[in-house]
Amino acid sequence: MAMAVPKLELRALGNTGLKLSSVGFGASPLGSVFGPVSESDAVASVREAFRLGINFFDTSPYYGGTLSEKMLGKGLKALGVPRNEYIVSTKCGRYLEGFDFSAERVTKSIDESLERLQLDYVDIFQCHDIEFGSLDQIVNETIPALQKLKEAGKIRFIGITGLPLDIFTYVLDRVPPGTVDVILSYCHYSINDSTLEDLLPYLKTKGVGVISASPLSMGLLTEFGPPEWHPASPELKSACQAAAVYCKEKGKNISKLAMQYSLSNKNISSVLVGMNSVKQVEENVAAATELALFGKDQATLAEVEAILKPVKNQTWSSGIQRS
Ligand code: NAD
Repeated sequence: MAMAVPKLELRALGNTGLKLSSVGFGASPLGSVFGPVSESDAVASVREAFRLGINFFDTSPYYGGTLSEKMLGKGLKALGVPRNEYIVSTKCGRYLEGFDFSAERVTKSIDESLERLQLDYVDIFQCHDIEFGSLDQIVNETIPALQKLKEAGKIRFIGITGLPLDIFTYVLDRVPPGTVDVILSYCHYSINDSTLEDLLPYLKTKGVGVISASPLSMGLLTEFGPPEWHPASPELKSACQAAAVYCKEKGKNISKLAMQYSLSNKNISSVLVGMNSVKQVEENVAAATELALFGKDQATLAEVEAILKPVKNQTWSSGIQRS
């Protein structure tokens, strides 16, 4: 008798009441930021993701200069299912033209995003890469503006995103409890960098939901390798490449190993992976279901961790440098 394939796990997101699929669909590749993607591939990827149990989709007006939002909107519409069956997050403050976290700009931004997404509301609206703005403006101006959008029913929950981890404590220590519902961290919970782990107890005490993006370190932990614009140092890139080659020679897949590493921490509600093909969707969902059935490949993971040890937790600078 064939073994039953476990369903993709749903995990609670902080105090929001939302239950996110453990694998989330990162739609930045639909904006062709990792290479060109056709509309039919974009729509088919979204359809396959939903069919396999992914209920969480993340985008931003910045990805592909609004292209990602438009593609995701088409994919979601083509599903033809009730709106409450999927969870959508988009962002504000970061655009192809630059950063603007003013109340006026983010208030206009939601209407533009809803139009491109062909939606009446988004579930999560996030200030995008706040380390590039004034964190005091985020606290005193941007988040209060987002609260008004919440009251108007255009967004359900408020989030903040960025690379340096100290931006989250800075903001969360300065807003009333329950104001920021979600944080989205990226490139800090993967095999080569797991520094988000130290922040998880703090986030739990604040009741804030945690989304961890870029489990493949934006392409570093793939056989194909990272895109041209990837900000990692040459040492980090070559160590990850060596790890990918090692896995391939052993008949293993570095991306599957990386997905399973990130998915193993249940304090992370959703692991947001960027996908632009039906094949990638199927592989990433299979990584989760195989993890549930068989657990992590500890032996290969230990070997890969040994290869990456000299660059462990190495990151890059992002945003305005603060003293
Ligand atoms: P990622 O680590 O998820 O890597 C994506 C890359 O890996 C793409 O090139 C994709 O085509 C490829 N890939 C996906 N599945 C694969 C597989 N099974 N095998 C081989 N290659 C595979 O990085 P990401 O896309 O930057 O991050 C995921 C999502 O998280 C983004 O799409 C975005 O929605 C979100 N994100 C947000 C922020 C932010 O808010 N500041 C930053 C980074 C990411």
